[in-house]
Amino acid sequence: MRMPVFDLHCDTAMELYADGNKANKSHLRKNSGHIDLERAGKLGGYAQCFAMFTTPSFTEIYNRPVELVYEQALGNFLQELEANKDLILPAGSSSEIRANAQQGKMSAILTIEGPAGIGFDPERLEALYRQGFRISTLGWNEQNVLAGSHKTGGGLTDLGKTYVRECQRLGILVDVSHISDEGFWDIMDITQAPVIASHSNSRSVCNISRNLTDDMYMEICRTGGTAGINLYAEFLKEDDADLDCVCDHVFHFLELDPSGEHLSLGGDLDGCDKLPAGFAGVDSYNMLADRLLERGLDEKTLHDLYWNNAMGVMDRAVRINQK
Ligand SMILES: [Zn+2]
Repeated sequence: MRMPVFDLHCDTAMELYADGNKANKSHLRKNSGHIDLERAGKLGGYAQCFAMFTTPSFTEIYNRPVELVYEQALGNFLQELEANKDLILPAGSSSEIRANAQQGKMSAILTIEGPAGIGFDPERLEALYRQGFRISTLGWNEQNVLAGSHKTGGGLTDLGKTYVRECQRLGILVDVSHISDEGFWDIMDITQAPVIASHSNSRSVCNISRNLTDDMYMEICRTGGTAGINLYAEFLKEDDADLDCVCDHVFHFLELDPSGEHLSLGGDLDGCDKLPAGFAGVDSYNMLADRLLERGLDEKTLHDLYWNNAMGVMDRAVRINQK
């Protein structure tokens, strides 16, 4: 079934940048990764959060300061958007996404995964907001000056608290994907706005630290936030993940919160090396929709999962900004 898709997380921007260091640079319009605009055009509408992903080790990996990696990758991605403005336009709100869709265009929303590229500096967030950034994690898999990760443990630091407050003052959604359990609950102690997990599954269904416990998911719902279903095979099932495993995570979350208003997509496409059997790239969201319907999901909840809930959480973040 052709559905409009709003996906809260992908690593395509960094994939295009990494590729740019090779002889055959690939482009957003058509490439051999998970996401390109030609395949996204087969969906019934498309809004994609594109993460500028950085971690401190990029300084060694790319042999240049991580801040420079961030600047170059962002510059490269903005050029890609400009080159494809006949198909996709930047968006910073649900009304801009709607306006783009009315022109038959897809939408690109900028997000931060791991603020290493901005020096973990809350004072830079206001400029980022003005550039169109609307979501930020507090880190990736490392311990940093803001918080510990799901791999290291360790809660939110004082600077981390400042980072959360500044995001929420501006209307940037705080994203708990990758954070430690302690850091998650520290954020919940101080949050004034919806909190999202842009690309995290259920730990009850697949027991790994990157996934959310039932209590965590319910707390995200309580804030008015959302969790994005991640398609990385290892986060779905220990081995042999297929489309049914994706459905299992969806249905578990729906058991916890039958409203279905706090669940979205966050595929982690181009950020993971293995997808579930039956999912080849962004256009496979159509096949996943079919499987969810076959498994008994009603069309309204499917539409909420694929589109409405992510649009709604963007609206609720903006309201905080205007308080
Ligand atoms: Zn990630």
